[in-house]
Amino acid sequence: MLQQTQVKTVIPYFNNFTNKFKTLNALSKSNENEILKMWEGLGYYRRARNLLACAKQLVNKCDSRLPKNIEELKNLPGVGDYTANALLGLVYNKPALAVDGNVKRVFSRNLNKEEKKIDFKKLIEKNKKILFSTNRNSDFVEAIMEFGALICKPKDPNCLTCCLKKSCKYFKSNKKIKNFKKKMIKDKNYDIFCYVNKKKQIALAKNSQISFLKNFNMPIIKESNSSIKTQDWKFLKNYKNSISNLKLNINIYYKFSNKIPSSHSWYSLEKNNEFIPNFTKKIFRQVSTLF
Ligand code: SF4
Repeated sequence: MLQQTQVKTVIPYFNNFTNKFKTLNALSKSNENEILKMWEGLGYYRRARNLLACAKQLVNKCDSRLPKNIEELKNLPGVGDYTANALLGLVYNKPALAVDGNVKRVFSRNLNKEEKKIDFKKLIEKNKKILFSTNRNSDFVEAIMEFGALICKPKDPNCLTCCLKKSCKYFKSNKKIKNFKKKMIKDKNYDIFCYVNKKKQIALAKNSQISFLKNFNMPIIKESNSSIKTQDWKFLKNYKNSISNLKLNINIYYKFSNKIPSSHSWYSLEKNNEFIPNFTKKIFRQVSTLF
């Protein structure tokens, strides 16, 4: 839940989630719609799907135990190099380091070398005797992340009170590196085509057309200038939306019709039991002005 999301946003979701699913077994018996409903509003829904798939795999194939080696961990849904190392360090106290943005910044500042010029895997391997000279590696993993978040902060690091300042090349250098990565924002233009009917319903299908929100319910959506002839549809409005690193400029079109493609089903604009992502709910709000 904490990937790309602030702690204060996560807390109520985490509490609800752990109250509902008190064991790995309970989570594994849930289903995607239930998990997504509980995740609603937290975004990055792939995390929720992976969590459920991971719980099922652990219960069904791993005897309900978290594997202890990196290759087996990386076979779990949603677990890549970063998470596998975090689990080894935090759960099993093994000499492994989860290299997140905070940790990269601490290393990079200490060396006064830009992050993109550092091979972090090699650096850790080369210095593993020093880094892991502790019996409390799980505390060390947590501590270095917190150190990056609270002391060696992205802007205005607390150098004067920092315990590393004597050895830190950034602190001592007159030519300090600039390390602040700007998030690459991409502008995209999309056309959205909504079948609607007099019962205030909209036709949706599982998205397989665009790269974000895969397999979630959406109307027909295409990058602008696609092959769909917009003259067959009525223009409703233009609006902006953002999702992840995408800034979307959206033209929304509609057509009243009782005939819809076989891949689509009708959904109420007002109330649905099925999980609907916020992106689609925003479309609902635009379309509901027709009624
Ligand atoms: S001295 Fe400053 S730049 Fe160096 S590690 Fe400490 S807080 Fe970061």
